[in-house]
Amino acid sequence: MTAVRTTCPYCGVGCGVLARADGAGGAAIAGDPDHPANFGRLCSKGSALGETLSLDDRLLHPVVRGVRATWDRALAEVARTFADTIRDHGPEAVAFYVSGQILTEDYYVANKLMKGFIGAANIDTNSRLCMSSSVAGHKRAFGTDTVPGTYEDLEQTDLVVLTGSNLAWCHPVLFQRLAAAKAARPGMRVVTIDPRRTATSELADLHLGLAPGSDVALFAGLLRRLAAAGRGDAAFIARHTSGLDAALAAAAAFDIGAVARVTGLGRGEIEQFYRLFAETERVVTVYSQGVNQSSAGTDKVNAIINAHLLTGRIGRPGMGPFSVTGQPNAMGGREVGGLANQLAAHLEIGDPAHRALVQDFWQSPQMPTQPGLKAVDLFEAVHDGRVKALWIMATNPAASLPDADRVTAALARCPFVVVSDVVQATDTSRYAHVLLPSTAWGEKDGTVTNSERRISRQRPFLPPPGETRHDWRQLAEVATRMGFPGFDWPDAAGVFREHAALSAHGNHGTRDFDIGAHAAIDRAGYDALAPFHWPQPAGEAPRARFFADGRFYTPDRKARFVATPYRAPAGRTGGARPLILNTGRVRDQWHTMTRTGKTARLTSHYAEPFVEINPLDARHLGLAAADLALVESDRGRALLRVLVTARQRPGSVFAPIHWTGQQASQSRIDALVAPHVDPVSGQPESKFTPVSLTRF
Ligand code: SF4
Repeated sequence: MTAVRTTCPYCGVGCGVLARADGAGGAAIAGDPDHPANFGRLCSKGSALGETLSLDDRLLHPVVRGVRATWDRALAEVARTFADTIRDHGPEAVAFYVSGQILTEDYYVANKLMKGFIGAANIDTNSRLCMSSSVAGHKRAFGTDTVPGTYEDLEQTDLVVLTGSNLAWCHPVLFQRLAAAKAARPGMRVVTIDPRRTATSELADLHLGLAPGSDVALFAGLLRRLAAAGRGDAAFIARHTSGLDAALAAAAAFDIGAVARVTGLGRGEIEQFYRLFAETERVVTVYSQGVNQSSAGTDKVNAIINAHLLTGRIGRPGMGPFSVTGQPNAMGGREVGGLANQLAAHLEIGDPAHRALVQDFWQSPQMPTQPGLKAVDLFEAVHDGRVKALWIMATNPAASLPDADRVTAALARCPFVVVSDVVQATDTSRYAHVLLPSTAWGEKDGTVTNSERRISRQRPFLPPPGETRHDWRQLAEVATRMGFPGFDWPDAAGVFREHAALSAHGNHGTRDFDIGAHAAIDRAGYDALAPFHWPQPAGEAPRARFFADGRFYTPDRKARFVATPYRAPAGRTGGARPLILNTGRVRDQWHTMTRTGKTARLTSHYAEPFVEINPLDARHLGLAAADLALVESDRGRALLRVLVTARQRPGSVFAPIHWTGQQASQSRIDALVAPHVDPVSGQPESKFTPVSLTRF
């Protein structure tokens, strides 16, 4: 059997995979040597994909109110209940909560149905938990949600600053590329900035173990120092930026003493970092969830971008701020308006001209004029009854949203919940009135976009099992049953074609996202589509980097410095909750382990949920390695195995996000996390929850 070229369904690196079906439901997996994200490399998760394809836990047919049903019956129930809810309570009474796991074509159809035809903007995604602070920071600085650089920049640079990113575990192949580049050019320097000493820190020439949540102070101090030392690029600043004075005024308080006080770092190590940054022309700053998942996440992003704008280090080889996304298609979702505060094709809900443009393209009856509810607010609206019909697709919010017990309570009282998933039993699916079986990786057909704006195909190599259907088709069939025109694509290629055409509609180089070169793609072209960077307007080649010409997408085409005064995290430690809980991933698991939990090769890395604690704190609390500890916050509790390690900063503990109520009844770590969000992005603060630990 010939190998099919597809893309790994896990992290935002977006590695190319060669999958060869074995004829018995499994597949042999190898890295695609021709894919420009990974050149044949795979990490532990990607290489184990062939071991995760069994059907034992799959949802294989529709279920309506606990009883197996036909598709006809299930779709009719969904369409009728959504239509009745809209008629009786208005369009704001319905909502979709989708996922960075679905493909761009799925996202496109969900967004078109909600914003163009239902006429509300209540569609949000678990990508809100992942990178929405980066989206907001990009838009404040550049006018658009644009990642300026590419993976090659990490290989071409002389200094990589990794802040709030455990790249070695969360984006392993990109880390492998970085490690190989450093081995080939030992003069390259790597700085890691993270309260934890992670596997990524092992590559670092300098590790800054700063206090959780203090990044803005560190980067504001850097801005102040760079300006004071005359390291600014005066010509770039004058010609291509605005707002520097306000940003410098906000940073004025952060001399070395103040930075040391807020971050808890030594003056010497701060000076060393500032000197390295100042004296190295080619610098890339990579950031991820440690920056984004914060009540000051957007300010953290802008504090980083400010330092690059001051030095003019953006859009050129080996230079720039670089957000890496957690999920395989967080970027694709952004492109088609998968967030409640976006339209499609990077257009703005709040802009009447943008709304008119999309409405004209879709020939839709109505468009929302206001952003919809972001993830945390959306589930609060479910809880208080404003949202009465909810469609959840490819995600498990009862396990993964902050304040997960309140989310569970919200689902329990919601009059109508639809869940589309590949898995039968999840913490969320037990609240579904209608369960719809979806195709999974290996069966799905569409595109994803990785962290460097590269669009790749996910191609099927297995037949859809049972009665499963693609997510986009489920949405389209409900839309058609609700009487809406324009949802009759023959296949995923048709959806992609429309998405590409919309990106070019009325776009005369005034926005960043344009893939108009693919607006007339046919099925054969779609099947053969090679990975490409966006943008690619009609008649042009793809463009790898943005902003080399100093032209941004703000009204005056200048990048904006943003003033970022320091704000402490929303939670307060002390008294009964003396420790700070930080949550994140482990190397060999993905999300709630529905795939990675199926193979012993991956589960043997960490076999059970745990909490990492510094030896000093462990001794103080009378905890020893392998004890069970009750971890409690003001929101919830979890029972976790104690792992004592000096990697952990005193005063902080770490627990992984992967275990759910399906594996162990008291291990949903997000039940502990408070729903504090960033005021600009709406992203929850998942890295700073005051907790206590007691021996169980
Ligand atoms: Fe998959 Fe990410 Fe590993 Fe690449 S690095 S194989 S995309 S999990």
